[in-house]
Amino acid sequence: MRIAVVSDVHANLHALEAVLGEVDKEGFDEMWCLGDVVGYGPKPNECVALVQKRTAICLAGNHDLVVLGKISVATFGGEAGAAAAWTREVLDAPAREFLMTLAPSAVTTGAELFHGSPRDPVWAYVLSEGAALESLLSTSEPLVLVGHSHVALALALEPAGDGVTGGLAPADTVAELATGRWLLNPGSVGQPRDGDARAAWALIDKVAGRAEFRRVTYPIEQTQAEIREQGLPSALAVRLAHGI
Ligand code: ZN
Repeated sequence: MRIAVVSDVHANLHALEAVLGEVDKEGFDEMWCLGDVVGYGPKPNECVALVQKRTAICLAGNHDLVVLGKISVATFGGEAGAAAAWTREVLDAPAREFLMTLAPSAVTTGAELFHGSPRDPVWAYVLSEGAALESLLSTSEPLVLVGHSHVALALALEPAGDGVTGGLAPADTVAELATGRWLLNPGSVGQPRDGDARAAWALIDKVAGRAEFRRVTYPIEQTQAEIREQGLPSALAVRLAHGI
């Protein structure tokens, strides 16, 4: 069983298409998406349609929920709020219908999935060893998958259950899953924030007992041009080039 895991697409169609191209080359059995399909980016409807078609499991992220009106847009400041308000205006009926069916967490055989964290699937970030430990101790499946921070991570629970090892998971990181329980964040497809501007995703191979962290280049300038064309805040275009 090979699972391609994506997260935080954020309506960046060129990044999503580049990742899907790589995923198709690798071959996989299922694709899972950890939420935030929309928000920030210029192509929400196209991205929702692709994610709907390709994923077996898709979570709702905080941006998706704000765009749907399930959470007030006032919870977002500046650029996130402006982009969410714009996305609300342009979101088409099929995209809205699909997003309305999603929840911020899911459990499947061998894995628990959260947009944020087990403690708060919508809003909490797992960015520290303490948060990773708490997440692993409050779940039971071998794998815990999170998104939301846009930072690729791989942390393993110590055999004694009192700490974690690992941390950032830059391109080509391999996690040996057979060694125990892991918390993984595949990173962000559409707005990476770990200093690598390339689109991120992860390939979990359950038979080989490995998770591989991948990065793929995409035409950033095309997404930047679309952001500006739509009148979205230009800072959202600038940050894509820096992976922040
Ligand atoms: Zn996000």
